[in-house]
Amino acid sequence: MRRRRDSIGGVLPPARLIQWDVDRTLLVGGGVGVEAFAAAFTAVTGVAWAGDLQAAGRTDLSLAPELFAQHGIADAGPYLRPFFARYGAESAARAHLMAARGTLLPGVPDVLAALHRRPGVVQTLVTGNIRAVGIGKVAAFGLDPYLDTAVGGYGDDHPVRSELVLRSRGRAEAAHGEFTEVVVVGDTVHDVGAALAAGVTAVGVATGPASAAELADAGAHHVLDDLSDVDGVVALLATGRLRDEAAPPQPRRSPRGH
Ligand SMILES: [Mg+2]
Repeated sequence: MRRRRDSIGGVLPPARLIQWDVDRTLLVGGGVGVEAFAAAFTAVTGVAWAGDLQAAGRTDLSLAPELFAQHGIADAGPYLRPFFARYGAESAARAHLMAARGTLLPGVPDVLAALHRRPGVVQTLVTGNIRAVGIGKVAAFGLDPYLDTAVGGYGDDHPVRSELVLRSRGRAEAAHGEFTEVVVVGDTVHDVGAALAAGVTAVGVATGPASAAELADAGAHHVLDDLSDVDGVVALLATGRLRDEAAPPQPRRSPRGH
């Protein structure tokens, strides 16, 4: 394996790529994202929004065709590019509402700031949100300085979440060199399933719809109740032993969908 070396040839510490999910892992958006989604839908199709958006862990590319179908549009294909562009714009126009109505989850800014200071750690996003919306959400809360969002994986990259993990890893290794550990941190069984399918480490955080037990059952290598124990979470993600190589976890039941 290629070792990372500094400019005078010394071997750098093992490099970790931390791939953060956004919604209910880092923050709660306060419904602003759904409003932007609905406004974009109506702007692009001319159809009044009557959808039920339950995104939890799903990619926007997998969700959008279902939501268009709910409104009688059987082939969403021609709409997707203008819809995602408008969705990004509608979300940006509501950034001030995101900060006012949404909230960061406990420990989040301190954990990201501390990991940002650790050598050999790169943080990015792997989220079902399209790129503009995912980056806009973390920027609304001031988290973007800690994240290399250019090497993330986003919901307009591919409908299948594990592909977002792989694409982010590829982008990150092209930019930063090889990583000895890639860690998905997310709140749903979809985050966990995507990590396992991509062959990387899954850390579940029980601040979303899934309980700690459900995340463990999905095969998470490690499960946290939340990120409030800043020192503990930073130590775990930066240098902790995340996998038991003697008995790698397997999903005891399959997550539904993507
Ligand atoms: Mg989430």
